[in-house]
Amino acid sequence: MRYRELGKTGLRVSELGFGTIPILSGHVPVLPKYYSPDTETAVAVMKKAYDHGCNFYDTAIPEEYGDAEAKLGEFVKTVDRNTVIISDKARFYGGGDIYREVIRSIENLGTRPDIYFVHQVDESNADEVFGKSGALEALYDLKREGRIGFTGIASHYYSVLYRAALDPRVDILQGSGNILERGMLDRIRDEEVFRNKGFILNKVYAAGLLIGPFLPAELIGGILGYPFSCALLGVGTFEQADVAFAREYPPLEFSFEEVTERLGRSFEPLCCDRCEKCVCPYGHEIHTSFRQFNYYHLGKEFWAINKLKMDFANTYEHCRSCIDRVCMKDCPRHLDIPKEIERINLLIRAYGV
Ligand code: SF4
Ligand code: SF4
Repeated sequence: MRYRELGKTGLRVSELGFGTIPILSGHVPVLPKYYSPDTETAVAVMKKAYDHGCNFYDTAIPEEYGDAEAKLGEFVKTVDRNTVIISDKARFYGGGDIYREVIRSIENLGTRPDIYFVHQVDESNADEVFGKSGALEALYDLKREGRIGFTGIASHYYSVLYRAALDPRVDILQGSGNILERGMLDRIRDEEVFRNKGFILNKVYAAGLLIGPFLPAELIGGILGYPFSCALLGVGTFEQADVAFAREYPPLEFSFEEVTERLGRSFEPLCCDRCEKCVCPYGHEIHTSFRQFNYYHLGKEFWAINKLKMDFANTYEHCRSCIDRVCMKDCPRHLDIPKEIERINLLIRAYGV
């Protein structure tokens, strides 16, 4: 296992980390597959990763990751606490709420989290999170009180991560990307301000959907050239722990065209890399629809169609009649965005909704 610096924290983290969604039990409406191991098995899977050199474990509160947080707490009791780094998170945006959640997480884990993230920050809640009495201010207080080690902002949005990178109260960022959805990673790599923060990468396997068209070695090797601190891999079984952590994968160079060509063997992918440069002045979040189109064809039909339906009719009608089409101005993939929107509309209609 190779190790990397976690921003300016002084921590060294394993290049690949353990994402705990697949070990949760029960029903939590999250995207990836989970395996519902009992606590004893889940602890043993985490121990296997640890024995391979993994020292970074990422979880979230019970409403988001079920009993994974408590299982992680049980695992940590079995090893030297100083040899593992615990990353936790909660989807609360007000200071009082997240303060309460951190105290509860400490109880569930039986130890203080090394990092605590405000989870899923987006444009609709960012002002609250970053503002006075917001979640970030509370995390900063909790850090000064010694209840958490470091503060973090987790988001799928480049604009939010950029704002967090400029904020001196934030130690670590968490964002998503993989060899297909690499646009945000390219922007983070090229923007100097991100070098001051630790960066945790998630969705390397695209919630498991890219496994099949690609081998884990290709998905992992293909992102190693990016300047992240730790890339999380969802692990739910002993076999997955071996695949993720037992060997050091060599970095691989995959062009975006090679990736879409490989996907094109089974469907016609929408060649969007999710760079999020296509800002629509009317508020349509088209890159999210583009992602769901690809996810539909990669095996998440029901989930993707339900997501696509939400507000899509409005986007479709607006794009059809849009004249200025400013969203296309900065698209590095030169996509004809209204035409791609039409393709999504045909998919939704073919599905009978
Ligand atoms: S075509 Fe017009 S309405 Fe549609 S996303 Fe682009 S700018 Fe927005
Ligand atoms: S449509 Fe173009 S600009 Fe928008 S996220 Fe995709 S690649 Fe980037």
